[in-house]
Amino acid sequence: MELVKLTIDGQEVQVPAGTTVLEAAEQLGIHIPRLCHDPDLTAVGACRLCVVEIEGMRNLPASCVTMATDGMVVRTNTPQIIEARKTILELLIANHPLDCLSCEKLGDCKLAEYCYQYGVKESSFINPEKHSYEVEDNNPFIIRDLNKCILCGRCIRACAEMTCNDIIDFSYRGFKTKVGPFGDTTLAESDCVYCGNCVAVCPTGALTEKQMQGKGRRWEYQRVKTTCPFCGTGCNFDLMVKDGKIAGVCSNPESVVNGKQLCIKGRFGWDFVHSDKRLTTPLVKVDGKFVPVSWDEAFNTIAKRLGEIKEKYGANAFAALSSARCTNEENYLVQKFVRAVMGTNNVDHCART
Ligand code: SF4
Ligand code: SF4
Ligand code: SF4
Repeated sequence: MELVKLTIDGQEVQVPAGTTVLEAAEQLGIHIPRLCHDPDLTAVGACRLCVVEIEGMRNLPASCVTMATDGMVVRTNTPQIIEARKTILELLIANHPLDCLSCEKLGDCKLAEYCYQYGVKESSFINPEKHSYEVEDNNPFIIRDLNKCILCGRCIRACAEMTCNDIIDFSYRGFKTKVGPFGDTTLAESDCVYCGNCVAVCPTGALTEKQMQGKGRRWEYQRVKTTCPFCGTGCNFDLMVKDGKIAGVCSNPESVVNGKQLCIKGRFGWDFVHSDKRLTTPLVKVDGKFVPVSWDEAFNTIAKRLGEIKEKYGANAFAALSSARCTNEENYLVQKFVRAVMGTNNVDHCART
């Protein structure tokens, strides 16, 4: 593998050829701010917040799309860079609602975080035009407030590159540029599959999870890493828990199985957990009606009925079908029970084929 050696803020680092300056800086623990960049998506260099100084180069190149080369000398935090970043942030907030006090994203908003870091309290651009888009709320899962959209394009790339659905893209031009499905319709009118991967990568409050609205501030949630119970892929994500109750699900970028990606079931299908329709006691059918019984009564009934069937029709009259939604341990127990207790090999699994 070809390696290149460069200097960033006075420190030398060696990286494989093809590494960007932003990635090389990260190897030294230097964080370069970015809004449009996401490590799981194609870099586009759109927001320009990651600009750096590189000796011998004119202007300030975007570090997320500039490849590290041998002998390169990079500076990431000079007064000129700080000034440029402040100007970019001021441009971004010039037509932004800045209703952070009531914004669902506060505490997890990259725009607010960088404005805080660079001391940007207001925009010096006078009398800017403001958008007054209606907040899109006509689906059960995602709220789109395009007034808070900074046109970073992360959602577009997530839809195309993670979900492979290509539902959304930029439309119109100039100040009127906006992100949305073809024909400027809503997600509900499009072929959106509500995976929410666009929400997971959005750096602002433009895209938020409907189920979490008004349930708590981001810093109030305990993030509990768990494995999705819906299929055998075994995606990991974080349950957002407040006061012992699940308020929603957020991607856990550290998940080795799925990264930030989830499907509609994993991201939005958890509300059954607190459903009052869940069974809390075993039920046994008596005279055609389900009757609540104790666990001992339920197990005795099962053992008695299975014993009767085996005795009357033989072990091969029994078969068990297990599920990819169970754990390995549960599936092991099912086959053990079928073979050792029922005395048959009639056991199969929905994920076998
Ligand atoms: S998206 Fe961020 S900057 Fe905009 S209102 Fe919400 S918290 Fe504030
Ligand atoms: S929810 Fe999924 S399919 Fe729908 S726009 Fe977002 S990324 Fe695309
Ligand atoms: S909706 Fe969010 S992710 Fe998409 S372009 Fe706007 S700010 Fe970026």
